[in-house]
Amino acid sequence: MPSDLTIAEVRVVLADIPVKRPHKMSFTTLEAVNFAFVRIETRGGLVGWGEAACLGGPTWSEESAESVQAVIERYVAPWLVGRDAAEIEPLRREMARRVQGNPFARAAVEMALWDLNGRALGVPVHRLLGGRVRDRVPLSWSLAVTSPEAEIEEARQKVALGHRIFKIKTAAHPVAHDVERVRRIREAVGPGVSLRVDANQGWDRPTALAAIRALEPYDLDFVEQPVPRWDLDGMAEIARRVTVPVMADESCGSPHEALAIARLGGVSILALKLTKSAGILGTMAIARIAEAAGMSCYVGCMIETSLGTAAYLQVALAAAPVTWGCELFGPLLLKGDVVRRPVQYADGAILALDDPGLGVEVDEAALRECTRR
Ligand code: MG
Repeated sequence: MPSDLTIAEVRVVLADIPVKRPHKMSFTTLEAVNFAFVRIETRGGLVGWGEAACLGGPTWSEESAESVQAVIERYVAPWLVGRDAAEIEPLRREMARRVQGNPFARAAVEMALWDLNGRALGVPVHRLLGGRVRDRVPLSWSLAVTSPEAEIEEARQKVALGHRIFKIKTAAHPVAHDVERVRRIREAVGPGVSLRVDANQGWDRPTALAAIRALEPYDLDFVEQPVPRWDLDGMAEIARRVTVPVMADESCGSPHEALAIARLGGVSILALKLTKSAGILGTMAIARIAEAAGMSCYVGCMIETSLGTAAYLQVALAAAPVTWGCELFGPLLLKGDVVRRPVQYADGAILALDDPGLGVEVDEAALRECTRR
């Protein structure tokens, strides 16, 4: 007999997990990632999980782990209890109507619904998205180290371990310093390794143009989010004036934003993240817009545990336009994890998950270890 998918309980757990080394970006230097985990249990006894990873409070966007918890507990959980978890799309639409913005909160709930449905049907979530188009996704490692010497050493170690793609976090320093970092990293890793740069909105238009032109000799795959997220015109203009492809990340949260970026032209790559786009359905919509506009995609991260990573991975496996790989390295940078068997990596890639639901089993004892008290 099929399991009763009526939602019986929605719980949110806050947790903090330190990173193995400080992670320096244009807007903050991170010592720990803050998480809101969502646990949804059905009357039939099935449990689905979702995760929102936040980078030290409302720094990357307006949301924090605390705001995610408040929104879900007060404005989602009360009406979600008693509803049919099988109705992912109707529930997604209702959630969007009742909760403006707050995509991280909505994404964490939607992830748990997908997990429940995959488990109920005994299939991985990528099957529900049309099946996987790849069995592994090339992995980018983010170089965001506080000391330039340690950064070169980290790049060398990662190359020895099989990593072939690096993203260099910039715009926390003057442009000349960042250009010198990129020059030294290119020299250290050699010509066969992919390098990308992420400014995390840290430059204004003239600085971005000067920086990208100065970086052109180092054979970058792309430059990510050079200007503030609201400056779509500036990003399009810069993309037209440089030879390096430009990728939108913070600017591309919703399908509406993806459409606006596509219409302005110039930008050729969209970064996908389940949390900024309120879940899997919103993210797949952006991938379709990219495909229709002749653009390609990359799967970013917010430094998720194996749980959130598994959710992002389902999209990276199923969305054909994801031709630039992913940066689902969260489990490698975090000091702890919340699942029984972490996601697996080999030869510079993250491997497909084919178990039911999101494909990982949450270890509630491990979660209790990092739960905020
Ligand atoms: Mg980014």
